[in-house]
Amino acid sequence: MDTVARERYSRQILFPGIGEAGQEAILHSHAAIVGCGALGSFHAAALARAGVGRLTIIDRDYIELGNLHRQWLFEEADAAEALPKAVAAERRIRRMNSLISVRGVVADLTAANVGDLLGSADVILDGTDNFDARYLINDFAVSRDIPWIYGAAVGSYGLTMTVIPGRTACLRCVYPRPPQGAQPTCETAGVLNAIVSVVASLQVADALKLLSCHPEKIRARIATIDVWEGTLRQIDGPERDPDCPCCARREFSFLEERELPPVSLCGRNAVQIRGRERLLDLNELRARLEPLGEVRANEFAVRFTANGYEMTVFPDGRAIVKGTADLGVARSIYAQYVG
Ligand SMILES: [Zn+2]
Repeated sequence: MDTVARERYSRQILFPGIGEAGQEAILHSHAAIVGCGALGSFHAAALARAGVGRLTIIDRDYIELGNLHRQWLFEEADAAEALPKAVAAERRIRRMNSLISVRGVVADLTAANVGDLLGSADVILDGTDNFDARYLINDFAVSRDIPWIYGAAVGSYGLTMTVIPGRTACLRCVYPRPPQGAQPTCETAGVLNAIVSVVASLQVADALKLLSCHPEKIRARIATIDVWEGTLRQIDGPERDPDCPCCARREFSFLEERELPPVSLCGRNAVQIRGRERLLDLNELRARLEPLGEVRANEFAVRFTANGYEMTVFPDGRAIVKGTADLGVARSIYAQYVG
């Protein structure tokens, strides 16, 4: 470690749990953050400041005004520009720590790209807001023996659980199937920024234990916190299920590629269209849409407003249609304007 790094991380090196050897390991590690909303933007900033040598930040969405009260990395100008979160996060992180390497990826994590995006990570942090992504991460992490750290927050309540394949229970040992029916979300039930930072901090602490080569310090437990009620609970050692389809039988059904139907984005009155695997020429699309409605564009996306709907189209063919939760309506708007 050079003298600049030694000074920069000195207070972390002084902490006996990490020390110089731990810091050295952190500097050579790779953390992947899936979802860069409230949890993910906290993970990204904390891990960058701690000196994690390589960060990959994956997010499919763009910044809106309603994100700013809890998503620490973003500013008013980002919302005004509707920048993709992964792009804004990468820029901001570069200004926080120029010694590390950071890559923002504007994409939806799928069975088709999970290997490329997460395959070289030493740890995966869950900053997502949905179970589709978490079951995909769980299957991938267990199949590749990569630790991952589950986290969720809504209202004033949150929980976290760290999965170390082969040692602790995995997500499917605890919840064999994704929950059915509508779940409370930040968009429908609201959320306090204070719960987000508690959950994200616990996730970051476990990530640093792993990356500084102290996995033995990780407790197998589910921690639940309610910052409004002032309650903290630790449920120790959920047992591994000896018949778990994922970590025992090693059937990784969420890794099988399947049709990617449109998905309604939890309570936002918006639908994501996954599009076909193709690259769109945004300049060409912009020129095509300009006579038909209001168009705003930057190098990352084209936003088109017409007839009460707002559609944001990304270069990989993906789009988010706002103004409807109806999958059919969204698909038809997409077909109508993008083709
Ligand atoms: Zn399991």
